Amino acid sequence: MRIAIIGAGIAGVTTAYECAADGHQVTVFERRGSVAAEGSFANAGLTAPGLSFPWGQVKWPALGGGAKLAWGWQRWRAGRSKQQGVLQERLLKLALFSSARQMELRRSLQMDYERACGTLVLLRSERDLNAAQTGLDLLTPWGLSAQVLTAEQCRGIEPGLNPDMRLHGGVQLGQGESGNCRQFAHLIRGAAQRLGAQFRFHTTVRSLTPGIPAKLVHEYTPPPDSLPDPSRQSELRDGNDDTRPAPLGRKEDCFDAIIICTGAAATELLRALKLKPALTQIQGYSITAPLRQLEAHPELGPQAAVFDQQRQISIGRIGQRIRVAGGIAPATASERARKSTLASLHQALDDWFPGSMQSTAVQHWQGSQALAADGLPLLGACARDGIWLNLAQGSATTLGWPLACGAARVLAEQVSGRQASADLPDITGLDIGRCA
Ligand SMILES: Cc1cc2nc3c(=O)[nH]c(=O)nc-3n(C[C@H](O)[C@H](O)[C@H](O)COP(=O)(O)OP(=O)(O)OC[C@H]3O[C@@H](n4cnc5c(N)ncnc54)[C@H](O)[C@@H]3O)c2cc1C
Repeated sequence: MRIAIIGAGIAGVTTAYECAADGHQVTVFERRGSVAAEGSFANAGLTAPGLSFPWGQVKWPALGGGAKLAWGWQRWRAGRSKQQGVLQERLLKLALFSSARQMELRRSLQMDYERACGTLVLLRSERDLNAAQTGLDLLTPWGLSAQVLTAEQCRGIEPGLNPDMRLHGGVQLGQGESGNCRQFAHLIRGAAQRLGAQFRFHTTVRSLTPGIPAKLVHEYTPPPDSLPDPSRQSELRDGNDDTRPAPLGRKEDCFDAIIICTGAAATELLRALKLKPALTQIQGYSITAPLRQLEAHPELGPQAAVFDQQRQISIGRIGQRIRVAGGIAPATASERARKSTLASLHQALDDWFPGSMQSTAVQHWQGSQALAADGLPLLGACARDGIWLNLAQGSATTLGWPLACGAARVLAEQVSGRQASADLPDITGLDIGRCA
């Protein structure tokens, strides 16, 4: 089959790999100059499947304005739907399958990327522990190890934790890791290319026409000579080597299947297909800087990843760097709110690992993602011939990277028209049908 993938974030590259591995002729269209250049660029990189389950008190962003009323209504309705529990369970099964698939790929493709095992959830008070307990009870039947620890045990695992900081205890999530999502995406892209997948960078998809075959109009959209945002400088260097020379102006191509993996930018293409799921855009922030190396304090900084449950902020080790991420907020947040969120990330780092970051080389990042009203992804066919969705994986209750490899595998099977195998998780109901 000829398959087009739109978007080369973590969802797009893993889907490209799985489709190419099945022997399909794959073309990836990406408007930026490289893979993982938007929502997958500098995320926290946590993959523990336990975090994909709605445990503890996940905080939803407060969305204001009349335009958000429909979203709010659907969110309220989803919270009361009996189906929601069934879908959450399917999502967890998908996350477990995905975790196994990611491990398998890491082994078989000999992928070497910055990663550290385990995630320690930090609980500041007994109230935090009680809130987390409900979720922990849900994890155990799934064979997910989650060990409740005293403050002392937490400090044993993370000796760099500030001894002066009040810590009630923690939960060590066994499975999963924290790592460099962007680096993983680059490696998967390489593997997909070796299987014949083609990447068309600086190429924006403008419109889609469903059908058999489905049509796609794309346009070469080169970046300006200089980019103001330092996090985008790599676009001028990376990826261009294999961008085929493209004619200026719009061009139409036909495919047997088109898979939309456009992350936060999905709404425009969906609207043109007369699909209006209750999706909103949210954004989050991260700060990254080299770890300070002091011979007298070899334990400085985190060993792996910690997650401050009360503040919903993660602090993780990415190779020789530290990344602090959080502050999920509406995409319309003001400059003042942005500054205050970044300040709260710095504060969390100062609270837990004071002095561990080289503050002269801090990179700030702001990433957007799509959030469905019920917090679930949009996966599968979409009642438009030849068009498939792999969207909204990263939300308040689900994480994008840990679902990516599994969702990509299941989609590749579905697009090929193969009978659902018992080895694959059932994603019925996680498609757009529930909220279109
Ligand atoms: C602060 C923060 C922390 C996070 N922490 C974690 C975490 O710890 N673990 C985790 O798993 N997830 C985390 N996430 C979420 C995670 O980053 C996202 O779920 C994931 O990266 C989304 O991947 P994606 O491929 O769907 O979207 P993206 O990575 O945004 O990719 C979409 C791509 O589509 C391209 N595109 C869009 N429209 C078009 C078009 N018309 N034509 C061509 N190309 C197009 C874009 O340029 C982009 O490259 C975090 C997010 C944030 C903001």
